[in-house]
Amino acid sequence: MWQPLTDWHQSKYREFTAFVARTVAPCAEQWDRDQRIPDAVIAELAQCGYLGATLPREYGGQGWDVVTFGLLNDAFGRGSSALTGVLTVQAMVSMALLKWGTAEQKRTWLPPLAKGEVIGAFALTEPGAGSAMHSLVTEVTEHDGGLVLNGSKRWISCGQFAGVFLVFGTLGQRAVACVVPREAPGVRVTPICDLMGFRAAGLAELHFKDVAVPAANLVGKAGFALSHVAPVGLHYGRISTACSALGLLRGCFEESVAYAAVRKIADQTVGDLGMVRSLIAHMGTDLEAGTLLCHNACRAEDGHLPEAFEQTLMAKYFTSRAAVRAASDAVQIRGASGCHGSSPVSRYYRDAKIMEIIEGTTQVHEDILGKMFVARAGKVGTPTRSA
Ligand SMILES: Cc1cc2nc3c(=O)[nH]c(=O)nc-3n(C[C@H](O)[C@H](O)[C@H](O)COP(=O)(O)OP(=O)(O)OC[C@H]3O[C@@H](n4cnc5c(N)ncnc54)[C@H](O)[C@@H]3O)c2cc1C
Repeated sequence: MWQPLTDWHQSKYREFTAFVARTVAPCAEQWDRDQRIPDAVIAELAQCGYLGATLPREYGGQGWDVVTFGLLNDAFGRGSSALTGVLTVQAMVSMALLKWGTAEQKRTWLPPLAKGEVIGAFALTEPGAGSAMHSLVTEVTEHDGGLVLNGSKRWISCGQFAGVFLVFGTLGQRAVACVVPREAPGVRVTPICDLMGFRAAGLAELHFKDVAVPAANLVGKAGFALSHVAPVGLHYGRISTACSALGLLRGCFEESVAYAAVRKIADQTVGDLGMVRSLIAHMGTDLEAGTLLCHNACRAEDGHLPEAFEQTLMAKYFTSRAAVRAASDAVQIRGASGCHGSSPVSRYYRDAKIMEIIEGTTQVHEDILGKMFVARAGKVGTPTRSA
């Protein structure tokens, strides 16, 4: 059910958009070219408290509600999907630890994560296990009262600069999650370069060779990692990605209407052309629909409502696909100038497609949502959880 934003939410959104206009938008193309976000920018996010947005104040976080977290990601998504990826992953690691970490793990890891003194990475995907996360082969064994990890992770956002990894693997037949500090002996990080989009998100492969960590680093019970720990992270990842895709969609719309109003085609503007108006009408309507879906999902999460999971899936499914359509149309509307880095739409075009792949692909979302809708009608059994 739609409720208007409160004055406080509106003022936070103004703060976030002003930050993005000042610090992110003017530099995002350069970061994309350099395939790197400067450390000083991450430090500035930390200083503003954005990296601890969802964590409670008792751990040094902002204690903001999920609506505010959504607005933060929407504002940043307009500026840089790669930088928003840092917010996404920090929240995924932090919220999984908040929900399933021991008191000691929370005391140790949450304050530095909340303050951005440490960046987290969510290390789930492996070369042979993406959507099929039950196929993990990273091996965790018990040795001398501690744990030893062997295996590899691929496509890990922030892996290049994260100080701590939340790593998923298997202990015998049981899926486990454990905290692995970057400096643990046997950890090797290989940067992944030349991605199509999210080029500055610091993706890496992580290699673990006889990496020893204390047994106290196990997060949640053995056997619960894929059914309980990972889903909390992925849920926050979807909220963040849904709202980030919404910001990108907003960028496509704003860039397109501004250009269409002034670009001359003979004696008329691009915006006078009916076929271009049709593209803009589609974009503007998707923007409105995506806004409603994202706000509903965030509010459902704030209210701890059972429908929060489904609404978040729908929001991420809708906005990521709408962003891909809008980015394609935004390039089309600008013609050749849309294919050049002087306008953000060419970057939006490359970044948008990534949103359909991360935190569960479009097809995985369709599979889960389709099952849920049919199950509700009483035609098939209970839906299964998935990445
Ligand atoms: C920029 C970027 C950042 C990323 N960051 C992280 C990160 O921080 N941490 C992390 O752990 N991972 C990360 N990933 C990995 C991402 O989560 C996986 O790429 C994603 O889960 C898909 O897995 P896959 O690439 O192995 O594709 P696959 O699972 O091999 O899928 C291949 C195709 O099969 C389809 N498919 C798969 N299963 C089904 C199904 N059940 N029904 C229908 N179709 C299906 C898919 O939709 C896709 O079209 C990142 C990826 C990218 C590109």
